[in-house]
Amino acid sequence: MIPAAPLPMQPDAMPAATASRPSMASSSRGFVARMRHGDLHDPLLRQVLPVDAEERIVPGFGLDAVGDGAARKAEGVIQKYRGRALLVTTGSCAVHCRYCFRRHFPYAEETAAREGWREAVAAVAHDPTIDEVILSGGDPLSLATSKLAELTAQLAAIPHVKRLRIHSRLPVVLPERVDPALLQWLSALPWPVALVVHANHANEFDPEVDAAMARLRGAGAQLLNQAVLLRGVNDSVHALAALSERGFAAGVLPYYLHQLDRVQGTAHFEVDDQRARALHTALAARLSGYLVPKLVREIQGDTGKRPL
Ligand SMILES: *Cc1c(COP(=O)(O)O)cnc(C)c1O
Ligand code: SF4
Repeated sequence: MIPAAPLPMQPDAMPAATASRPSMASSSRGFVARMRHGDLHDPLLRQVLPVDAEERIVPGFGLDAVGDGAARKAEGVIQKYRGRALLVTTGSCAVHCRYCFRRHFPYAEETAAREGWREAVAAVAHDPTIDEVILSGGDPLSLATSKLAELTAQLAAIPHVKRLRIHSRLPVVLPERVDPALLQWLSALPWPVALVVHANHANEFDPEVDAAMARLRGAGAQLLNQAVLLRGVNDSVHALAALSERGFAAGVLPYYLHQLDRVQGTAHFEVDDQRARALHTALAARLSGYLVPKLVREIQGDTGKRPL
């Protein structure tokens, strides 16, 4: 995917030997401020810093690891699971996560927003089995609220749509995006809303993020978190427990812990299945049940995310 927003970390703006505060796009200043200054192993920095290991070609790590190409239902509409249509609303994100499974999908050319959402809305309208629409991307909240409102006004006319889900990393990386216009739009939606945020480490939360989550909950959204299990970022029981506990303190329940999708350039983040299971078992032995995310992997052709 090609982010339209400036990359938070330009490789040439940040000599690898110095982790002094790099020059940043203003959009991610808050995220950068949560990094430990001067620490190349900082778990937030590792998520966004390009490294040489990405250039390695590793067998088994391809370009379309999760079969998005095959599941295309209409312009910008992906359906893999019963009842749920995923709309690729935009290719843009506020950060460029180095492990992202959508790095190689041609989202810039193919989004549901084209022609005022015409083809995407028609695809949902014509399939009465779809009761949930998922706004994904890229990051749907990188679109203007008016653009989102244009979509939901059309979806509201479809009687079989019963729920709206939003997958967004923006409440975490850019909490100021949770502004009055967004909240007003959210609270006026005619459906129950699940907002699945994306934080991989407890340090991604700070008082501004907490406040943004509180505003979102105030607007009626059910907040869930999905994380990706990432070597060097959150692959310890301590880090995973802290993530669940910190998220809950902000009003967010853990939902999924994803095994990495095997996309080219991400192999250095992979945690093998055996260790992933051991971490998950230890996490379950330590935390309240509702603080334990489901450990899953996406397998092409499955009817849902597969528990490991
Ligand atoms: C992950 C995913 C969903 C959502 O799956 P849930 O298990 O309901 O969270 C829906 N559509 C696609 C294409 C997905 O990849
Ligand atoms: S915010 Fe999500 S879609 Fe965007 S780069 Fe990060 S993981 Fe990928």
